[in-house]
Amino acid sequence: MGKGTQAERLKADLGLTHLATGDILRQEVADGTALGVEAQRFMNDGQLVPDEVVIGMIKGRLDGAPDNFLLDGFPRTIAQADALDVMLDALGAPLEAVVSLLVPHDELARRLGGRWLCRRCGRSYHKVSNPYRPGDLCPVDGGLCDLYQRADDRPETIAARLETYTRQTAPVVGHYRERGVLCEIDGTGELDAVNARIRSCLGL
Ligand code: AMP
Repeated sequence: MGKGTQAERLKADLGLTHLATGDILRQEVADGTALGVEAQRFMNDGQLVPDEVVIGMIKGRLDGAPDNFLLDGFPRTIAQADALDVMLDALGAPLEAVVSLLVPHDELARRLGGRWLCRRCGRSYHKVSNPYRPGDLCPVDGGLCDLYQRADDRPETIAARLETYTRQTAPVVGHYRERGVLCEIDGTGELDAVNARIRSCLGL
């Protein structure tokens, strides 16, 4: 693993600015902003934050946006996908590719239920398949990773998030498949193998 945060590594590796709506929302919650207070109850229940809130949040970040960016976790509804089209048209920034990672829901529940994240570098550990080892140093400060479990990685919230995905986000995948911009990637197996599949599908 390279140095720096997840966003810094993505920038160095692929030249992409990482805009993850979940990360942005968690920061708003941590900062106690009005947006964070509104978003938190939806996030804690495994529901989507209302479209107008998330669309406004992304629009604010895309105005004066960097040339190349990766939207992570957005769009999650057809209304968000339509709003994204309008935003990209205004920016003159064509949508180049959409990546959908295919992972069975029982495997996702296993991954999320055992996940521990570093607050500083974003590195992800798993209590069974990738346990934190004392020799692992945080690439951000060279000390120990500051691990935490996400509030919405509890079993009942995971089940609600997967149900929300099926109901509201799966149609977005079909929408982009019809437009011919979708890369559907087998997201099971080793990290390096999944990474290689994504790169190959994107022609990187
Ligand atoms: P994530 O980190 O992508 O798993 O997102 C965590 C939570 O933030 C989700 O379960 C939603 O409650 C909320 N969220 C993130 N992205 C969106 C989005 N595009 N639309 C609505 N809610 C979102």
